[in-house]
Amino acid sequence: MTSTVGVSGAGTQDYDVIVVGARCAGAPAALLLARLGHRVLLVDRATFPSDTISTHLIHPPGLAALERWGLLDRVVGTGCPAIDIYAFDLGPFVLAGSPAGEGFDVSYAPRRTVLDKILVDAAAESGAEVREGFTVEEILVDGGTVTGIRGHDKDGGTTIDRARIVVGADGLHSTVAKATAATSYAEKPKINAYYYTYWAGLPMYGQFEAFDRED
Ligand SMILES: Cc1cc2nc3c(=O)[nH]c(=O)nc-3n(C[C@H](O)[C@H](O)[C@H](O)COP(=O)(O)OP(=O)(O)OC[C@H]3O[C@@H](n4cnc5c(N)ncnc54)[C@H](O)[C@@H]3O)c2cc1C
Repeated sequence: MTSTVGVSGAGTQDYDVIVVGARCAGAPAALLLARLGHRVLLVDRATFPSDTISTHLIHPPGLAALERWGLLDRVVGTGCPAIDIYAFDLGPFVLAGSPAGEGFDVSYAPRRTVLDKILVDAAAESGAEVREGFTVEEILVDGGTVTGIRGHDKDGGTTIDRARIVVGADGLHSTVAKATAATSYAEKPKINAYYYTYWAGLPMYGQFEAFDRED
């Protein structure tokens, strides 16, 4: 998955690192930092399992990352089938090929309810403190340095947590990026709109097919 992780801050406090956002950018960042022995707080306003818009394809580099983190067996073990053909039907012609890279010649496409839960659980198992249902309202800044977060849980209780580093893995419209005036780059205008639905019981050929048509 393509993910953005913004990093800022220095100081002392309750945690070495606070990671805001617990999906495919934030949860692995928290997992890896916790495995290195850092005190990590991982927060997300979502509670997992939680869905989000995505086509779900984990391309070979993503599979290689899951394998490095010891999580690939868990993802494959959920029963999502291997995909060895991608086909883009553009109307007049079809572009078809196989995924390949980093020793993998297949992809997988688990629901995000499945993948993100595995990542969050693995971060917790690795020693990160995971706080779900927690919305970050403000990034605390002292003398030009990020020092922590202020946020509330689902009952509205406000909490302040301080850390040497705050990582913004909070996706589009990132609160951390806004607070730190992070520079945007490689921006592209919107060119497509999609509708999503899910179907059960269809034959599955290990093939990802996209049919692009006008309107
Ligand atoms: C239509 C569509 C299809 C896609 N298909 C694919 C695909 O097939 N394969 C692929 O690799 N990628 C795909 N992507 C891209 C992929 O979904 C994203 O790159 C990826 O989800 C980004 O992950 P992330 O962890 O950076 O951010 P996000 O998934 O956006 O997660 C950010 C998290 O931060 C939390 N958060 C935000 N603000 C706060 C706050 N203030 N307080 C607390 N929590 C907060 C949110 O609740 C959320 O859980 C697709 C994207 C779209 C839109």
